[in-house]
Amino acid sequence: MYDCIVIGGGPAAVSAAINLKALGKNFMWVGNGSSKKAAAAELVRNYPGLPDITGRQLVWTFENHAASLGIERMDGLVTAVYDLSGRFAVAVGTDTYETATVILCTGVASAKLIPGEEEFLGRGVSYCATCDGFLYKGKTIGVLCTDKQFEHEAEYLASIAGKVYFMPMYKNCEVFTPNAEVVLKMPKEISGGMKAEKLVFADGELPVDGIFILRASLSPSVLLRGLAEEGGHIAADRQCRTNIPGVFAAGDCTGRPYQYAKAVGEGNIAAHSAAEYLAEKK
Ligand SMILES: Cc1cc2nc3c(=O)[nH]c(=O)nc-3n(C[C@H](O)[C@H](O)[C@H](O)COP(=O)(O)OP(=O)(O)OC[C@H]3O[C@@H](n4cnc5c(N)ncnc54)[C@H](O)[C@@H]3O)c2cc1C
Repeated sequence: MYDCIVIGGGPAAVSAAINLKALGKNFMWVGNGSSKKAAAAELVRNYPGLPDITGRQLVWTFENHAASLGIERMDGLVTAVYDLSGRFAVAVGTDTYETATVILCTGVASAKLIPGEEEFLGRGVSYCATCDGFLYKGKTIGVLCTDKQFEHEAEYLASIAGKVYFMPMYKNCEVFTPNAEVVLKMPKEISGGMKAEKLVFADGELPVDGIFILRASLSPSVLLRGLAEEGGHIAADRQCRTNIPGVFAAGDCTGRPYQYAKAVGEGNIAAHSAAEYLAEKK
């Protein structure tokens, strides 16, 4: 079992990982690639010591620092964190990892949940093609794809399912499999009974056996049930503690200002708070 699992691919997560390493903790760092948001700044003028650096250079500097300490990030999307009273199970693809603490550095979840998404999660709604795709062999599924980077997952699903309603939320979609019908609209709702049964649009419905939502990040409350939120952010105190003992949060996910320095500072605090929590539990 790990002392801590850090979730996220941005500055807050790098900082938490570097500080856990300095504190001698046995930890794992998992992120869905490098943060695109952190790399997006054309010019950063407010990061102390590194004037006139681009976001891309800053990310490179952060990640090189971590790598120079022998810290590796596992690339993957965490689809769920389960609270097992005193320890946690973190699901990445088809694997699950146990840990005593978790630091959430997941950034701001920009996508709003589709009505019905949370209700039918695990009952027809899935975020993970490789984990749940096999359940839909020969069946009809909806695949909502928010970014081109997930097209290979959509194609994998199409290779299993009988029929796919593919809903790309971006331009220049390149999924061309004979059983995939491209639907260029966003569902208003996912509805059903015991499980998800249809996608509801403004102008009609599509019957489905399951729905895959391929996104770069998940809403915190979907990721970890029972996690308190405040104004769309994870509620955390100045020690980066959330309402769930053993779970800490850092960076943009805890609220404004959305800035590198705040993210890095909170990553540091969260690592120290996790270490204190571990010491108290011993
Ligand atoms: C265009 C632009 C310009 C900016 N300019 C500045 C500036 O000049 N100065 C400044 O201080 N700030 C600036 N910012 C803000 C800065 O980029 C953010 O404050 C910073 O990146 C926040 O870091 P973070 O680690 O909290 O979150 P993020 O950088 O958003 O990283 C979160 C990461 O976690 C990953 N993730 C989320 N959920 C999961 C999951 N379930 N499993 C695995 N991984 C997951 C995401 O994919 C993402 O990679 C700018 C932002 C933008 C978009």
